[in-house]
Amino acid sequence: MGYFDPKQYVEFTMHFRCNLKCEHCMIEGTMDWLKPESMERFQEILSYNQQHRCWKGAIFTGSEITLSSNLPDLARMARQNGFEHVRIQTNGIRLADENYCRELVEAGIDEYFVSVMAADAETHDAIALVRGAFAKMMRGLENLDAYENVFLLTNTVITKRSYRDLPRIVDCLAHLRRLVQMDFWNYWPMNETDEKDLIVPYTEILPFLKEAIAKAWQKGLAIEVKNFPECLLGEYSKALNNDQPKLFIDDAFWTEFMRNGFFQCIHREKCGSRQCLGLNTAYIKKFGWQEDILSPLPIQTPFLA
Ligand code: SF4
Repeated sequence: MGYFDPKQYVEFTMHFRCNLKCEHCMIEGTMDWLKPESMERFQEILSYNQQHRCWKGAIFTGSEITLSSNLPDLARMARQNGFEHVRIQTNGIRLADENYCRELVEAGIDEYFVSVMAADAETHDAIALVRGAFAKMMRGLENLDAYENVFLLTNTVITKRSYRDLPRIVDCLAHLRRLVQMDFWNYWPMNETDEKDLIVPYTEILPFLKEAIAKAWQKGLAIEVKNFPECLLGEYSKALNNDQPKLFIDDAFWTEFMRNGFFQCIHREKCGSRQCLGLNTAYIKKFGWQEDILSPLPIQTPFLA
């Protein structure tokens, strides 16, 4: 279970530029031509929410939203239009600047969803393909940790390079008082094949993922795992939450997204899971259907009075 309810959030992609070159980037290759949401569209959605109160929280993302000079203005507009929370999704590089952090907090951004790619600088920087990225990201988290009214969330994409680091990532963030949630998203390639050779067999990830979840729970943190078979998680399955906020993004993104081919599983018809995304096309091409390690969950029969 997460600390936040994704259904209460709406996500705006206002900007497509980035200062890292992460090897697992989901929009690499599309950043150049995806169109950010216009200010007119943004204002329309703000007005709609004023009237209908669909969402309590606004999330700003793009590629790297802190590169957008009007981010503080966007946050103020969201707050003035009734949003109780404003979140940014960021690689954390610019948060190393204390003055910039203050500007964002004062503009009303109270939730920071920061990418932590590994537990040490060498691995994180190698994934981000930028030296110094880990140090800046950690400094940014520590800068924000000084604010009473701020919530910190982290996201780690599970790939061949990061999966062994998962428990150590929990350890290296343990000193942050404002950290409330850690996400672990098992990599999906936005493609029918794993061109970059980043997908890892579930059984290899599992012990590291379980250890990381157990450590985080012990520390009182919420965990959200995405894109991992529910039947393999056993007692850790309540960490699985594939829900996402309502996303406003260029329609062309969805054509790319559909290339993943989620919801495939030999056992799908007889499985009662409501959360599981099953396998995706690239995983199946690389490792097969793995029907022997997966086991359908019981189908819940509705109670009849
Ligand atoms: S059997 Fe298939 S659909 Fe059911 S939980 Fe396992 S992977 Fe998911």
